[in-house]
Amino acid sequence: MHPSPPLTPLLDGQVPDLAAYLGRGGGLGLARAKALAPERVIALVGDAGLRGRGGAGFPTARKWAAVASSACPTRYLVCNAAEGEPGSFKDRWLLRHNPYVVLEGMAIAAHALGAGVAFVAIKARFDTERARLEAALAELRAAALLDGLQIRIVAGPDDYLFGEEKAMLEVVEGRAPMPRILPPHQVGLFARPGSPNPTAVNNAETLANLPRIVADGPASFRGVGTDTSPGTMLFSVCGDVGSPGVVELPLGSPLRALVEEHGGGTASGRPVKAVLAGVSAGVVTPDLLDVPLTFEALRSAGSALGSGGFIVYDTATCMVEAAALYTAFLRDGSCGQCPACGQGTARVADALQLLDAGREPADVIKVLTDHSRRMTGGTRCGLPKGAAALVGSLVARYEEEFVGHGHAPCERHRALRLPTIALPDVVSTSPTSDGPAVGGPAGPPREMERAG
Ligand code: SF4
Repeated sequence: MHPSPPLTPLLDGQVPDLAAYLGRGGGLGLARAKALAPERVIALVGDAGLRGRGGAGFPTARKWAAVASSACPTRYLVCNAAEGEPGSFKDRWLLRHNPYVVLEGMAIAAHALGAGVAFVAIKARFDTERARLEAALAELRAAALLDGLQIRIVAGPDDYLFGEEKAMLEVVEGRAPMPRILPPHQVGLFARPGSPNPTAVNNAETLANLPRIVADGPASFRGVGTDTSPGTMLFSVCGDVGSPGVVELPLGSPLRALVEEHGGGTASGRPVKAVLAGVSAGVVTPDLLDVPLTFEALRSAGSALGSGGFIVYDTATCMVEAAALYTAFLRDGSCGQCPACGQGTARVADALQLLDAGREPADVIKVLTDHSRRMTGGTRCGLPKGAAALVGSLVARYEEEFVGHGHAPCERHRALRLPTIALPDVVSTSPTSDGPAVGGPAGPPREMERAG
């Protein structure tokens, strides 16, 4: 029996053009996938144990099987590159470094699903990433590597809900990001009576894993990470750390390593007070910093792995202010279609803003916990559930800060804002590049991007 090759890293410097991508083994996964029947590709991805990197961690092969098993011959694929969770920057980081691996992954997924048309859904505001995608797509088309697959780039709004898969389909069809009721594998893009057009929506990083899984083999992927959370993942670390950024780590690495080694610990030197896994999961307190970065371990710790974005706060942070900031973000992100969510997120966010401003509503803990509990019933998407998880955990872990917050000016108030990160500059965005490389190595950080 041959040992499996080491897993090819997802992030390995900037890939300036298609020639450089092919020169480092790009395209091999697609060539091998095309030689296999679609069901064999799905089985191979199932053997690898790939789970979605966009939030829920759902097994990719199971999502695909639901689409591929449909009797409807029209199927679509959507690459979710709308990255909107505060604290998560990894999809933009990946697209700036290597859009080719995402597009190759899309071609493999489309083959497995029997989809002839695929879409990349990305915020219009991500102009650098869109330019890289458009340039890479033009090169792949010119080299005839897409083999008839049509890939279209859809530039969407800044709304948080654009990243929700049922809302994303609405945007691809030209409407506002209002989540539908039924999931995309049941009612897909451009569905009409008798033609449900089942659609798979996969996160950009999830798709980027496919070329190496097919080229290196599932055993290679399973050689890294844990049994139930195999492979590597791109993690974002930001907030009060000294070195915010994105790093690829084996799943199962301790959260402490991400915060202290890769994030450089707190910039102030003060101890860590709280780590938020985005805004849709419970807080991680400092006593749990050694939790392994896996889907199961974070869930057992009362949080979630989510899209791998972690926001670190040091002890000079007011947790009421943090709760008010993120619940206001979620209140503003709610589309209001479901009354429990529209009213509940508003009541919780408003109560927290009052409390943050020094005016304490009567029985504030009861108000927060009761509304958090009630706002999750009968809703179309997970936004209120995430808000309730975050608020519930902050109130439970830092209750002494919430009770009595309105009685005296808060010494820790510091005008918190949504976290930012410096994204890398890109080497080339030229679709007409015919040389081996344009520009040079990655330059210094060029811009600060707002999360959201
Ligand atoms: Fe809109 Fe909230 Fe309903 Fe989601 S749960 S569809 S955000 S109202």
